[in-house]
Amino acid sequence: MTLSNWAGNTAFRASDVHHPSSLDELRRLVAGSARVRALGSGHSFNDVADTTGDLVVLDRMPDAAEIDSAAARVRVPARMTYARLAPQLDAHGLALANLASLPHISVAGSVATGTHGSGDAIPSLAAAVSSLDLVTADGSTLTLARGDADFPGAVVALGALGVVTSLTLDVVPSFEVRQYVREGLPVEALAHFDDIMAAGYSVSLFTDWRETRVWLKRAGDPGDEPPADWYGTRPADGPRHPLPAMPADPCTTQLGVPGPWHERLPHFRADFEPSGAGDELQSELILPREHAVEALRALFAIGERIRPVLHISEVRTVAADDLWLSPFHGRDSVGVHFTWIKDPEGVRPVLELVEETLAPFEPRPHWGKLFTRWPSCPERFRSLAARLDPEGKFANDFTRRLLGE
Ligand SMILES: Cc1cc2nc3c(=O)[nH]c(=O)nc-3n(C[C@H](O)[C@H](O)[C@H](O)COP(=O)(O)OP(=O)(O)OC[C@H]3O[C@@H](n4cnc5c(N)ncnc54)[C@H](O)[C@@H]3O)c2cc1C
Repeated sequence: MTLSNWAGNTAFRASDVHHPSSLDELRRLVAGSARVRALGSGHSFNDVADTTGDLVVLDRMPDAAEIDSAAARVRVPARMTYARLAPQLDAHGLALANLASLPHISVAGSVATGTHGSGDAIPSLAAAVSSLDLVTADGSTLTLARGDADFPGAVVALGALGVVTSLTLDVVPSFEVRQYVREGLPVEALAHFDDIMAAGYSVSLFTDWRETRVWLKRAGDPGDEPPADWYGTRPADGPRHPLPAMPADPCTTQLGVPGPWHERLPHFRADFEPSGAGDELQSELILPREHAVEALRALFAIGERIRPVLHISEVRTVAADDLWLSPFHGRDSVGVHFTWIKDPEGVRPVLELVEETLAPFEPRPHWGKLFTRWPSCPERFRSLAARLDPEGKFANDFTRRLLGE
């Protein structure tokens, strides 16, 4: 059976797939392999997780999360999903500051690509990492923690430095969220983009570049519904799916019903398979926050060209971090996401058009999604990879393209 990613658009070319069940087994495997790479839950849309050698899946490693309430942190096994972790934290009165749109993704895989949710004040999921343990090329173990010189290069690292075995994440006190959907946001309301995105703890705009809806996730005060005529929108009269034609069953509870953070921040419920329309591809370009309105207007202007291959777009805000390869490095950002129909040939020219349209706004790609324009690799990441993995054991076509090799 061919192993492929979640979307089915990348068949992994690994000669062998391994499921080590202990750290020692993993260390021996890595030390003895000429080419090796870890796979998370396989939700990336490109070949970032691929290898022609040994693919390592950590799903049989010890999988208990170690919660330290007093220190406000949790140490998690790399392959644990947010869906498994979140209820355990909540049971201890703790939370993660944010989650992505679906909780089914692994912590190590998400962190490795800079996965994020939305929220003006909230950085990516990778920014919650305070330390990580990895097995490096010769099979030895290495722990890097916030404050270590190499740490900011090792968190969003695309699997290029070693196999991460566990990560320690910052946690915050558990909180409740209410979710509201507002429909019919007029294009002119973009002039109020900053106010709209600041109107909740986590806010997303879903648009097909003609009709726009707002997913408003409010925590604390004000936790109530915004006024009836809020920026020209109307309240949704029932639960909604981000894709207007889809039933809302897989979606987290809306209509202002309060619930725990992990059952409201993701758009999709942990107990449903998170299928957009069944078949999809994704891209996302991340821009400096100050370009948001101008960039969105430029995309509305080419909406006719985008729509034929688009299921839906999502616009989110993400706070800056200091991780070298993070798309949010050094800049508060707006992420403009595209859920495409599953037609790679049809999507490619439209993606190129989107990239060209956004080029004046200094875009950076989401590492786990489809893109055609490669950013340059920071020199310090190149040296870190060369130092930790001198023979390029963890390199793959994706990282070679990034490193320009
Ligand atoms: C339906 C859907 C919704 C999504 N929603 C969002 C969203 O809301 N926000 C967002 O930002 N992204 C989103 N994504 C993208 C997704 O979060 C990223 O692609 C993420 O990397 C997936 O995690 P994964 O565990 O599946 O990683 P994988 O795709 O398995 O791997 C990603 C990278 O991590 C590396 N890696 C994995 N495990 C390890 C390890 N133990 N040690 C070292 N390296 C490792 C791999 O080698 C690879 O380079 C979505 C994807 C899908 C399919």
